[in-house]
Amino acid sequence: MAATSRDYYELLGVERGANEADIKRAFRRKARELHPDVNEEPDAQDRFREVVEAYEVLSKSETRQLYDRFGHAGLRGGGFRPTQFDFGSLNDLFSAFFGDDLFGVSPRARRARGADVAAEVAIELTEAATGVRRDVPFDVVVKCGRCRGSGAEPGSGVVDCDTCGGTGRLQQVGRSVFGDFVRAQACPRCDGAGRVVEQPCAECEGSGRIVDRRTLDVEIPAGIHDGQRIRLSGEGHVGSLGGPAGDVYVRVRVKPDRRFVREGDDIYSTIDLTITDAALGTTRTIETLAGPAELTLPPGTQPGEVRVLPGRGMPVLQGYGRGDHRVLVNVIVPRQLSAEQRALLEQFAGSTGADNYRGDERFFDKLKSAFR
Ligand SMILES: [Zn+2]
Ligand SMILES: [Zn+2]
Repeated sequence: MAATSRDYYELLGVERGANEADIKRAFRRKARELHPDVNEEPDAQDRFREVVEAYEVLSKSETRQLYDRFGHAGLRGGGFRPTQFDFGSLNDLFSAFFGDDLFGVSPRARRARGADVAAEVAIELTEAATGVRRDVPFDVVVKCGRCRGSGAEPGSGVVDCDTCGGTGRLQQVGRSVFGDFVRAQACPRCDGAGRVVEQPCAECEGSGRIVDRRTLDVEIPAGIHDGQRIRLSGEGHVGSLGGPAGDVYVRVRVKPDRRFVREGDDIYSTIDLTITDAALGTTRTIETLAGPAELTLPPGTQPGEVRVLPGRGMPVLQGYGRGDHRVLVNVIVPRQLSAEQRALLEQFAGSTGADNYRGDERFFDKLKSAFR
């Protein structure tokens, strides 16, 4: 299905009677104007896609005729679908259309952004609660220092590539949804540069780039969740021919903590009360991520009850406040009794009745509501 409902002629800024050359020229002009590398406006990508779609339709006589006669509906009926493309491969798209470069410049001046790098770091839950700085090591492609990225051994020269005769490209017939096209592919020997070095640099073997192990001090914000990524802009692989470097994405793993279970920004822990503490009431010091807290459990505390310590959970990432700390009560029962204890308990049992126990709180319901 077509992505835009706008008029294709209008999008390209041409008359309905425009010939093939006019359409091509108009597309080139629009594409240069809207390319996301040069156009910072937020809607540039969408507008670019529209223009590409318009060109796809109007540059082929079958689709153009369908569109001229029946409009967008005709194209849909004819099974037309705009190409889904990735902005990273716009240059390829352009070579597919024109057999040349997007900006109509020689391939040796082609700048490309470097690729992104993925790294990972594991932290404790307690560190996620406070925020932490970590040295994160990763391998990254950087410009070779020995040849300053030229690939030539210092003192040696650079000559035209004899595989492509110095043009940097080789013609190749390719196939696409638009039919066959001649694709000017970057020459594999010189990598599109058109020039090769006489004597390759001893450090980088002529590539001009080397892999370097780097370590960055990364600030991990308080409240980060397991699996979230931190972007370090411009710290990724070096771009080609002066293009900008890619980014580093650091994936943060938050290790499970023996004492706590995290649920969003809330923290759960459990507390074991003896049957007597549960019946008589008690005060306990509870470990929380925000430090120790006093928790008073009234007489008659039941197993499965949840006590909430507000604002003592995880800090909210890039926000204000904290989640809650929720304590799930467990009641433990003695596994063995001395003769004296047994006698006391029997005496106690004899003195109690249904009045001492209320049946209106069902353990299972409480347990369910503990984990909202
Ligand atoms: Zn080098
Ligand atoms: Zn070459």
